[in-house]
Amino acid sequence: MSKYWSSMAKRAKPYIPGEQVNKTNIIKLNTNENPYGPSPKVAEAIKAEIGNNLRLYPSPTMDTLRESIGQYYDVQKENVFIGNGSDEVLAFSFMAFFEPGKKILFPNISYSFYPVYANIYHIDYEEVPLLGDFTIDVEKFFDSEGGVIFPNPNAPTSIYLPLEQIEKIAQHNPNSVVIVDEAYVDFAEASAISLTKKYNNILVIQTMSKSRSLAGLRVGFAIGHETLIEALIRMKDSFNSYPVDRLAMAGAIAAIEDEAYFEETTKQIIATREKTTEELQSLGFHVLPSSANFVFVTHPNVDAKMLYETLREEDILIRYFGTTFIQQYVRITIGTDEEMATLLGAIKRIIRP
Ligand code: PMP
Repeated sequence: MSKYWSSMAKRAKPYIPGEQVNKTNIIKLNTNENPYGPSPKVAEAIKAEIGNNLRLYPSPTMDTLRESIGQYYDVQKENVFIGNGSDEVLAFSFMAFFEPGKKILFPNISYSFYPVYANIYHIDYEEVPLLGDFTIDVEKFFDSEGGVIFPNPNAPTSIYLPLEQIEKIAQHNPNSVVIVDEAYVDFAEASAISLTKKYNNILVIQTMSKSRSLAGLRVGFAIGHETLIEALIRMKDSFNSYPVDRLAMAGAIAAIEDEAYFEETTKQIIATREKTTEELQSLGFHVLPSSANFVFVTHPNVDAKMLYETLREEDILIRYFGTTFIQQYVRITIGTDEEMATLLGAIKRIIRP
């Protein structure tokens, strides 16, 4: 802190992301990355772009990527906004749709970036308690003063909220925006994108970081009514006309277009998730029903922090939050079958010495 800092800089309580390490032979199951690389077509597209066009600024309107996302999801490019990772799309959304003095609602166990944005933009918020089984208490999200935001599937609980419930939340918030953060939705039943055609107050935010294995490229997007998208563009163009570079744009288009690769790897992760869930259950873990590429688990006789720390000593990284309500839970990203077998072997040794 220094006297030169603005009140905004002083007020900021930055988000702390999961640890990134430089070691090569660790099993990294702590930040929900995809264990399979991106489509091989991504690297080809990026190489071609390096050769041709890097001296030129990228398109500020990002039309080609917006069109390919639009085509994939059956919406117009006017319904698509692109940002540098979905975290940036979320940041712009808080600015574009939420207002100081009007309280917004999000679940009390949820993505811990939301209070960070709310705090920096002076937006009041209420953390709505989840029900005892960690599901969202839908009616508590009705009639918000300033808007609603939640991840679906929720993070870190991994639990999916069916679209009928999201529809109810939108219907009961006719004067404010309901943001559905679908970072993990490709591992779940269905996206709320279909609802954006019916409800002009639903904004869906997705990322290429998880199901398309491009966390390092930083591409996120929002889909919604064109007036919502227009507000996001106004925010972006008031900060940086080019938040997504040429390489990211070329890579993201290649990833969206390689549907077969996306479907195969996503299916594999879901299969590994189901197998891992059964194996953890057979070791006595309680595993929340996951619709994501991670599982959120607790064990009646094993201390969560000890489990996290002991696995870490064995070069297996999982995520331990240690925050209120979830002190005895750990979040485990779904890796390859081989990585999960190593993890389960280590867990067996730890819990049954
Ligand atoms: N939303 C949720 C719920 C997440 O867990 C994450 C990943 N940390 C993000 C958004 C942001 O992802 P990215 O910025 O990589 O698109």
